[in-house]
Amino acid sequence: MRILICGGGFVGTYSALRLERRLGDSGHEVVLVNPENYLQYQPFLPEAASGTIEPRHVVVALRTVLPRTRLVVGEVETVDHDARQAWVRTLGGEPLELHYDALVLAPGSISRVLPVPGLAERGVGFKTIEEAIHLRNDVLARLEAAAGATDTVRRQALLTFVFVGGGYAGVEALAELEDLARSAMHHYPELHDARVRWVLVEAADTILPEIGAGLARYAQGLLARRGIEVRLHTRLESAEGGIMRLSDGEVFPAETLVWTTGVRPHPLATRSGLAVDAHGRVATDEYLRVLDREGRPVPDLWAAGDCAAVPDVTTGGMSPPSAQHALRQARRLAENLVATIAGRPLRQFRYHNRGQLVSLGRYRGVARLPCNVRVRGLLAWWLHRSYHLAMMPTLNRRVRIAIDWSVALLFPRDVIALGSLERPHDAFLHAAGRGQERAG
Ligand SMILES: Cc1cc2nc3c(=O)[nH]c(=O)nc-3n(C[C@H](O)[C@H](O)[C@H](O)COP(=O)(O)OP(=O)(O)OC[C@H]3O[C@@H](n4cnc5c(N)ncnc54)[C@H](O)[C@@H]3O)c2cc1C
Repeated sequence: MRILICGGGFVGTYSALRLERRLGDSGHEVVLVNPENYLQYQPFLPEAASGTIEPRHVVVALRTVLPRTRLVVGEVETVDHDARQAWVRTLGGEPLELHYDALVLAPGSISRVLPVPGLAERGVGFKTIEEAIHLRNDVLARLEAAAGATDTVRRQALLTFVFVGGGYAGVEALAELEDLARSAMHHYPELHDARVRWVLVEAADTILPEIGAGLARYAQGLLARRGIEVRLHTRLESAEGGIMRLSDGEVFPAETLVWTTGVRPHPLATRSGLAVDAHGRVATDEYLRVLDREGRPVPDLWAAGDCAAVPDVTTGGMSPPSAQHALRQARRLAENLVATIAGRPLRQFRYHNRGQLVSLGRYRGVARLPCNVRVRGLLAWWLHRSYHLAMMPTLNRRVRIAIDWSVALLFPRDVIALGSLERPHDAFLHAAGRGQERAG
């Protein structure tokens, strides 16, 4: 039997891990398709962006952790579940048809982008390791460019950073990058009288709605004391030409625009003609089996994580899109898949939310724990770090991250902007161009 897993994030990786363990050498084949050969541990992306963790340490090599799974690096373009067939575009661009007996849908989510003029050209999301690395280089390169700018309007545009969306991804990323810029500014005597402006634009009446009103107010106050402007009830109306137009009437130039207004389910299910709910998620039952339009389980089709609407039997609602849910769903999904093969009864996915942990930059954080216990400041920050360190797959990565943190405590932050990494051919093309001139 071949089990095909589409997506190598939390659900894909943890379900493959459990399947490897349970199926052993039984002759069943597990195939995992993912666009990259690594799993990204997204909760650590903000720290990868600020450089307190080396970016390579927040990703885990799938080939190392899944030695008995066949990895196909590529994207599933569509599936025909009636025919048990998936069409994959491999990394090399070649099409590949994969037959399967059971399918696990785990492509996660994509950034929810709205039709704001100029956003697609000017904005960047914050969902991948590439975006985290880009933003770190971007912030440091803007400081460098501002240090050399003579035009004051241009200099202020370079020093203005706009984040749209006050959920935990946006707030954590902003807090970490502001920390980075604040430390880096000590090395720029040219900018001693300059104002680095950080603006957080949020359409709702609060940031961090997941942690409750009290902690959200505390977090907002903390950001405000650091000089970060939090604009509630406000939308970005346009970013054309690098000019930010907010719905409260303010207009200002900014060179950096980060879009973190949340995610929407990956469109693969819709593209493949599977039944989806109003939000675009495949509906599952409490056993992680995908349901058809009549609410009946579809044989051999499973789903979990951000792409799925999974009932939360502990609350009567739906599971939120979070890593802590995704990885537990993945384990239950794999156990139920194995139980189906063995003809054993299935067990419900049942998980009590352990609360929310939000880091607000070095030594600061907020946390909502079980029994409605609320924690803030250093303890919350430490809990955030400890929890995610414990959850990080592989001892190798946990040790490397712990070393990164220790080094960050002992030495000042690294302020090197390696933006040229994104254009590795520039120097060579330049050299080739000069070579031709000489030859001519
Ligand atoms: C910046 C950030 C911080 C976060 N912090 C936290 C936190 O502190 N706590 C928490 O609980 N949650 C956090 N989350 C949310 C959490 O990361 C997600 O809920 C979780 O990753 C969902 O798991 P998943 O497996 O469904 O999707 P993902 O982990 O996103 O994995 C989906 C995988 O599928 C791959 N894929 C996409 N399309 C295809 C295709 N066509 N074919 C094959 N593969 C495909 C993707 O490349 C990816 O590898 C954070 C998210 C972000 C972005």
